[in-house]
Amino acid sequence: MPIRHMQYSGPPLPDTPAATTASPAQAGPAGRAMRTQGMVLAFYILDAVLMAAYAAHGALPPLAALAYAAAGCGLTGLFVALVRTGVHRRMGGAWFTTLQLLSACTLMLATAAAVPQIGMLLMLTMIVAVATAALQLPLRHVLAVSGLIAVVSLALLWAYGGRFGMPLDDGWLRLLSGSWFALILGKIAAINLIGTQMRKALAASNARLAQALTQVRELSERDELTGLQNRRSILTLLTEERARFARGGPAFAVAIMDIDHFKRVNDRHGHATGDEVLRRFAKIASGILRSTDRIARFGGEEFLLLLPNTPDARLAGLAAERFRCAVESHPWADVAADLAVTCSIGLTISRAGEEAAEMLERADAALYRAKSAGRNAVCAG
Ligand code: GH3
Ligand code: MG
Ligand code: MG
Repeated sequence: MPIRHMQYSGPPLPDTPAATTASPAQAGPAGRAMRTQGMVLAFYILDAVLMAAYAAHGALPPLAALAYAAAGCGLTGLFVALVRTGVHRRMGGAWFTTLQLLSACTLMLATAAAVPQIGMLLMLTMIVAVATAALQLPLRHVLAVSGLIAVVSLALLWAYGGRFGMPLDDGWLRLLSGSWFALILGKIAAINLIGTQMRKALAASNARLAQALTQVRELSERDELTGLQNRRSILTLLTEERARFARGGPAFAVAIMDIDHFKRVNDRHGHATGDEVLRRFAKIASGILRSTDRIARFGGEEFLLLLPNTPDARLAGLAAERFRCAVESHPWADVAADLAVTCSIGLTISRAGEEAAEMLERADAALYRAKSAGRNAVCAG
């Protein structure tokens, strides 16, 4: 009977699947609590059936099985009502489980006092209940309940002495006592189910945590306006690429792209149009790049292009030129009448022995030259 704590029956914890129950097919915390009640009831009835079998062989008064079953049903009905009315959620899972454990143990101890001839079996059954609940309860609850049980059990053993035990007088009774013992073992096996459920809940919680972490990382690496990688993220990639190059990997190119006279765009067409230009610029870039190329919003209206495995300055220049042309020929009038947007690009190829910062300085200097040369141009440095 007392494996009443197969599942956590309290309010959804933040890290249990119930807290984010996605599918309506999955039972919520109340559903799981009700399943627990169903199992508890089944265990009470199984115990009562065995008691009835003892009674049939004259080892117990028939009323004992009936009273035990009635009390078990009554208690379970009470806890079902507590779940239905949401009281168990308000109580908190630990207190609800403790209360249920206490009620089960009280019933078993009272039964053991009334029919001590099966006292030992009831005590064993109680141990399973406590052990099962202990998986989910705070230590102080387990210690308090165990202490109470120990005191009452000692009093019962003291009072009944040799009358406290299990019926073994004939073959049938030995078989029944063996069956009760087997039932206890079956309940212990059910504890394993709790472990499986806990492992599943933990795995699901870990998966959600990993997903949340990926989202957080993704957000921390993205530029909100354009959806491109942000400065920090591309600088990490740049450092990695430089390290690869330093270890003998292929040379790579870096280009800083800056929208020409962007301040004017804002001034003439408004900040919202300026934002739309930045978004379009990002889209044009993303559409042109190779899958291995990376682009990031480096700041304001500046973008950083990282072209891995690009040792040829001429090819890198062609890529940058293609990009410059794409920006220039984009139908900007769709964004705002009379709007024309161009960009200037400073390009450079990695050199042995230099840090990423030096490479960026060179690209910046090349960009400055492109601006000085009249803008809408690509300069290599
Ligand atoms: P240059 O050709 O020399 O690069 O001139 P510029 O006007 O593009 O450069 P400047 O540095 O003078 O101005 C950059 C402008 O970009 C100023 C700033 O208001 C604007 N800006 C920066 N970030 C944003 C943004 O997120 N949205 C909008 N709409 N404007 C931005
Ligand atoms: Mg600019
Ligand atoms: Mg600028």
